[in-house]
Amino acid sequence: VDGGAGVALAARGLHVRFGAARAVDGVELVVGAGEIVALVGESGCGKTTLARALLGLVRPAGGTVEHGPGPLVRTRAGLKEFRRHVQLVLQDPTGSLNPRHTVYEAVAEGLRVHRVEGDEETRVADALSRAGLRPPERFFLRYPHELSGGQRQRVVIAGALVLEPDVLVADEPVSSLDASVRGEILALLLRLRGELGLSVLVVTHDLGLAWNIADRVAVMYLGRIVETGPAADVLLAPRHPYTRALLSVVPEIGRMRPILLTGEAPDPSRIPAGCRFRPRCPAYADGLPAEVSTLCETRSPAVLPAGGGHHAACHLTDRTGPPEPTGPPEPA
Ligand code: SF4
Repeated sequence: VDGGAGVALAARGLHVRFGAARAVDGVELVVGAGEIVALVGESGCGKTTLARALLGLVRPAGGTVEHGPGPLVRTRAGLKEFRRHVQLVLQDPTGSLNPRHTVYEAVAEGLRVHRVEGDEETRVADALSRAGLRPPERFFLRYPHELSGGQRQRVVIAGALVLEPDVLVADEPVSSLDASVRGEILALLLRLRGELGLSVLVVTHDLGLAWNIADRVAVMYLGRIVETGPAADVLLAPRHPYTRALLSVVPEIGRMRPILLTGEAPDPSRIPAGCRFRPRCPAYADGLPAEVSTLCETRSPAVLPAGGGHHAACHLTDRTGPPEPTGPPEPA
């Protein structure tokens, strides 16, 4: 669960409730300094709510958010300071850019909100340049509709960079872009990590994206992290049946027979007893030794170490040792 290096951003036993729905249900997750972590799972698994809680945008029902050496201080001043250092990058088509604002205004907005002193124009130009929009002055007076999809996403990233954050939380940062532009934006995130030592939490449903960018992967199901570890371990030798099912339909990584998940979509207000994945678990449906299936029905599996920083929450893999690797991936 831990990143190893110093902690940049962490959830410690985090719970978020919406009425009866346990959207985030006791999550431990660490983004280490300079690390790229992919938080993956189907829509509705709670990953966006977890990201919003990590950004201080949702008040948790329990647990804490840590930034750097200490817990997030939920005073007005504490939250404002935190939000300067931990920046959200949304995908542009969700409306993160105001169509009536120029590129300059969009990027300068954060400086004005946070009353950052110094030469605004130089900071805006630096941020655009770092985001790959060069020469930056050529973009100052353009409007979003005058830019390509990739350029708009770079403006969104520049708007985060202008505050010199130490963590970016990128929610589906490339899902709406063409394949060639996706590669460029992912290369940009990797370059920014290298140049600025940024830590990045990428929230995505796309395991191929996780394979291409992440140092570590955390797989979320129905409000919990069910598997986490170094990207190569989780994606090439998954231990949790849910991760295996997700991977089996990702051709560039999986190379497995597709495993179709059956059963109802997750409902966080009706979490099953025992293992929350049991109603859809292919391993359980195929038949398990009685002592294991009884555990699946009655006990929520703990997230246990599986060696080399790999952790999984499953009574079965807990006993069976490492699975066979699924084969090397295609080149990215
Ligand atoms: Fe499936 Fe049991 Fe593992 Fe849950 S604990 S994922 S039901 S095998």
